[in-house]
Amino acid sequence: MPELLNVEGLRVRFRTAGPVKSLIQGLTDPHIDAVMQVSFNLNEGETFGLVGESGSGKTTLGRAVIGLVEMAEGSITFNGTELRGLDDARLRVIRRHVAMMFQDPVASLSPRKTVRNLVTEPFHIHRIPGRQSSRDARRLLNLVGLHEGFLGAYPHQLSGGQARRVGVARALALEPRLIIADEPTAGLDVSVQGEILNLMNRLQRELGLSYLIITHNLPVVRHVSDRLAIMYLGRFVETGDTDGIFANPAHPYTLGLLAAVPEPDPDRRRDKLELEGEIPSLMNRPRGCEFHTRCPFAREKCRSEAPLLREVAPGRMASCHFPFPNPAEAATSGTGG
Ligand code: SF4
Repeated sequence: MPELLNVEGLRVRFRTAGPVKSLIQGLTDPHIDAVMQVSFNLNEGETFGLVGESGSGKTTLGRAVIGLVEMAEGSITFNGTELRGLDDARLRVIRRHVAMMFQDPVASLSPRKTVRNLVTEPFHIHRIPGRQSSRDARRLLNLVGLHEGFLGAYPHQLSGGQARRVGVARALALEPRLIIADEPTAGLDVSVQGEILNLMNRLQRELGLSYLIITHNLPVVRHVSDRLAIMYLGRFVETGDTDGIFANPAHPYTLGLLAAVPEPDPDRRRDKLELEGEIPSLMNRPRGCEFHTRCPFAREKCRSEAPLLREVAPGRMASCHFPFPNPAEAATSGTGG
């Protein structure tokens, strides 16, 4: 399928202190890198998952793609157009093709607006005249499997699943080609999560949508994603096709994330690798491999030398000196890196 989105060498920086505070605190560089050297592409009709713990930079990356946070370096190309340097008018036209579903299904909807107003609000924001009709609102609710009787309802009158469906309808209003979904099933019961994921799959088939799914929920990402990127401290540490990563993770961090997923089939339970400790602060990145403070396979080399993201198997990239097939064996035998 043709490429829809291409991200190359993306870096997002945030200022941590103003000029006066920086002077008082003696900070030479009052910035943190929330996203570093991130590159990936997304094809038409494809789903790409961004996975990581809270603080991994996945939400910031999603926001950068839609232009909600500024990039410091790199390029984002959507449908062949490089976004950097575009004036507001041209950026606005491109953004109509990219929609965002925000995390909390109820809190992300304005409490004083009816469902009718919520799902047609994008027409108003993007100044598209004559599109705020009841017909459009009914069409959008039908698309997401909600009865028209909800048109006059307010967010607090909706269940979590219904509110999420309204969020999906709102995202679909401008007929986007890409939807960035931040934790699309957060706060929902497991059975409702399944309904929302099935809805998203159906819409993808019917409308040819591409998805960028941001989540810490591995079963969710396994259900919907064709390819994955695992993020740690703002960098990709492993990328590849979803089935391959779930079957044979190459990076110890991925192994740790997967070990936390309940596996009902005893034959498929993997050796436990419990992730210990907290994700380090972006203001105090560990030297060498940034995962070494939590990695049970860390060796001397890991503490001094940062591994590059490199191909470790066809179609699989990982940044580890001692990657798959078994980082523990590679570490004891001294291979790898
Ligand atoms: Fe662990 Fe070393 Fe690989 Fe980093 S480079 S993930 S510390 S084995």
